[in-house]
Amino acid sequence: MSKKTTSPGGSKKTGSKLNGAEIRQAFLDFMAETGHTIVPSMSLVPSDDPTLLFTNSGMVQFKGVFLGTDSRPYTRVADSQKVMRVAGKHNDLEDVGRDDSHHTFFEMLGNWSFGDYYKQEAITWAWQLLTDVWALPKDKLWATCFEDEKGVIPRDDEAADIWRGQPGFDASHLLFFGRKDNFWEMAEIGPCGPDSEIHIDRGPEYCDRQGVPGHVCHVNGDCKRFLELWNLVFIQYNRTGPQASDLTPLPKKHVDTGMGLDRIVSVLQGVDSNYKTDLFTPLLDTIQKMTGHNDQQRADNFTPYRVIADHARAATFLIGDGVIPGNTGRNYVCRMVIRRAFRFGRLIGFSEPFLAKVAETVVEHYGAAYPEIVKHKDSILRTITQEEYRFQRTLDVGVAHLNAILTHLEEHGEKTLSGEEAFNLYATYGLPLEITRDVARERGLEVDEADFDRAREAHAEASRTEVAVVGGEDVELYRDLLHTLQAGGKLGPDGVEYDPYNEPEVEEPLLALVKEGRRVSSARVGEKVEVVLPRTCFYIASGGQVADTGVIAHFKNADDEQPTWEIHVEDMRRPAAGVVVHVGTVKVGTPREGDQAWAGVDQDRRWDIMRNHTATHLLHSELRYFLGEHVRQAGSLVAPDRLRFDFTHNGMLTQEELSRVTRSVNEAILANYEVRVEYLDREAAIQAGAMALFSEKYGATVRTIQIGEPELFSFELCGGTHVPETADIGPFLIVSEEAAAAGVRRIEAVTGRAALDLMQQRLGALENVATYLKANPAEVDRKVLTLLDENDSAQKEITRLRRELMRRDFETLMGKVEDVNGVPVLAAVVKDVDADALREMTDWFRARTPSGVAVLGSVQGNRPHFVASVTDDLVMRGLDASKLVKAVAKVVGGGGGGKPTLAQAGGKDPTRLTEALAQVKPTVVEGLK
Ligand SMILES: [Zn+2]
Ligand SMILES: [Zn+2]
Repeated sequence: MSKKTTSPGGSKKTGSKLNGAEIRQAFLDFMAETGHTIVPSMSLVPSDDPTLLFTNSGMVQFKGVFLGTDSRPYTRVADSQKVMRVAGKHNDLEDVGRDDSHHTFFEMLGNWSFGDYYKQEAITWAWQLLTDVWALPKDKLWATCFEDEKGVIPRDDEAADIWRGQPGFDASHLLFFGRKDNFWEMAEIGPCGPDSEIHIDRGPEYCDRQGVPGHVCHVNGDCKRFLELWNLVFIQYNRTGPQASDLTPLPKKHVDTGMGLDRIVSVLQGVDSNYKTDLFTPLLDTIQKMTGHNDQQRADNFTPYRVIADHARAATFLIGDGVIPGNTGRNYVCRMVIRRAFRFGRLIGFSEPFLAKVAETVVEHYGAAYPEIVKHKDSILRTITQEEYRFQRTLDVGVAHLNAILTHLEEHGEKTLSGEEAFNLYATYGLPLEITRDVARERGLEVDEADFDRAREAHAEASRTEVAVVGGEDVELYRDLLHTLQAGGKLGPDGVEYDPYNEPEVEEPLLALVKEGRRVSSARVGEKVEVVLPRTCFYIASGGQVADTGVIAHFKNADDEQPTWEIHVEDMRRPAAGVVVHVGTVKVGTPREGDQAWAGVDQDRRWDIMRNHTATHLLHSELRYFLGEHVRQAGSLVAPDRLRFDFTHNGMLTQEELSRVTRSVNEAILANYEVRVEYLDREAAIQAGAMALFSEKYGATVRTIQIGEPELFSFELCGGTHVPETADIGPFLIVSEEAAAAGVRRIEAVTGRAALDLMQQRLGALENVATYLKANPAEVDRKVLTLLDENDSAQKEITRLRRELMRRDFETLMGKVEDVNGVPVLAAVVKDVDADALREMTDWFRARTPSGVAVLGSVQGNRPHFVASVTDDLVMRGLDASKLVKAVAKVVGGGGGGKPTLAQAGGKDPTRLTEALAQVKPTVVEGLK
């Protein structure tokens, strides 16, 4: 661990001597000493914000606190947050590696106040840390505050005065800027406020626009002399609309700050580029060691070096947070950075996978601050290498193909590659759009990216999964409702009491009904409503476990059989902090606000869910035991009818592994272990070996589920509902095991009633098969094997006969050999065969014709394809098989390539096959010249 400062501002160790890790730690230490709770970085995968691809700023994990949908046990907090910016508004990918300061992944240092301290403390501490602890020269620092250029929102004189009062601050270094630079808004409506930035003047020698006519260096200018170091946001208003009058002061004011670690380290280490800090130099050194370049060569290739270092760092952290290379969303980004780094590796001479070595250096240097990448080191390195291998096979062909298309465009004076083609390159060769764009731009062409998105959408349509976005607009409604109910004494300070763990039913007055986004006093049969009770025992979907369903009803008399009204609860949600609603439909009568209500969970269904949840924990633990510690949960669904468990593992499980896992889960069930719930301190639980999920967010105290004694069988952080003892689960059966994504397996299993159903079904089927085979059930497998054997021989016979037919076809084809300027040339269509068959036929042709040319074409799956073969002697005379296939493929709208002696190609238009083959003769004549 690194140096601790003794008190805020008490350290005498100056910034310039600190390494990157020490600077990160010094920030956290300083914040701890000023009363901040230090929390771990949130995962790069935002756990509860489906609108965000990645955590893209330090405040993401506190967004709910500012919006009032979430609360925390602390009011001041600080962290070093992992951040990823590759898509949308913050797309810096183009600049990564080409300049000194853009990255895909980086770290944001930040401190926050939730209605606690405000401008005075935030500014004073920032000044102390920068000038006392890190000893930055006071006369080089500048501060900016907000002044509305439209004169509507008040100027932030409060912050300005605080700046002027800082010891040693030069009052002439205080500047005001308008909305673009110094006013922060989360969205069109919601929390907002002025901000104040601290900039440093690095000196005229850092200006990269010296000599540009009219250029003057200044804060927020366009050169590199002034750098913004730290942004302090003062959230003091709530915006309810676009007008100035729509800004209302917040009762509780917040502070939100952010300082990019790479940049502050570059300043403290006195270098002119983030890539020259010790956050990057070890990675660049590793690359250099592998290439064997001298320093000049390294300098000459700075873009590939930097892209590789940046992307290796990003991939390491992404995989460390459970993201795996794939085709959509986050997975696509992970794939893209690895492939893009690999392509840049090609440019500096790497021909084999190399990126894992760089990632290893990342783990070495960042592991102390982010233990998750140490813990998952093996799977990080393996995943990266595998992705490189996967790409290596197609990269060269893909880029060659792309270059051919680009040449074609250039020849026709076109400047834009269509999105359709770019998507085909991705679908066929795995070339991410970003690489296609790199290659195109290197040749001065662009890619139609909107068109690419459309093409991808069209392909993704089938596998689309809908993400439910928790409505932003009804937060207000529910917050108001909460305040009204609290003011009326109907709800306590914590709002609706949520306890799905004890009683399965409650009796409470119906506090509020909401219909179509509005509060109503009653509802009628058939209407969809949301019901608020003072407390509830219904579980809200989370951690993979689905929500409870059940009934809310009113009975006139205690012993009535029939309810006067009844609502069927179909779902549960928490639209705002402190508010839990039952989502359902009125089935009987007219529910009214104030009625006494009985609410009961569908208990049979709940038991099925609990069985599946506890079984999921047992399965997780057994998989780790049998397959190894690399197994990590990558997704989970706990439903009443089944459980689905995704986990990181390479290669399918063998039958034996599956049956061992099934057996031992069932043994754990039979052992009837007690399932204990314990609330523990988060750190202590993790120390004790509790498994925590990468994308979960935890408070200081966590709920743990422990199974087994005296030796713990399973120990997980979990908020779900469980059976009290494992024997309650009943039988456990694995239904399927398959790939969910690259490096991720998916198991589906059933327990309890569903497992019984399955066993009865399967045994019934077995009985039936036995009857068909006229065998007893125990002999069925051997009987089937015999049948399969017979079938196999029959298949072999069919294959043999087919080849014989092919031979005959070939003999017919040989009759079509023509003499072209003394060279035997065969250009012919073969009916409905694959590329392998075409290649085999060209082999036969060579065997028969020691000197000759064969180009064969066929159509399969409505797409034409070709194989061309040229004997060696004719290659010497100027013929080239790859030129031949290109010439024919062009006619059918395709392309291809290969060696001069053997090449193949594909195309689009099957109707022009014969026309395409007509190109062979002239191309041969041309080639022989
Ligand atoms: Zn300048
Ligand atoms: Zn769980």
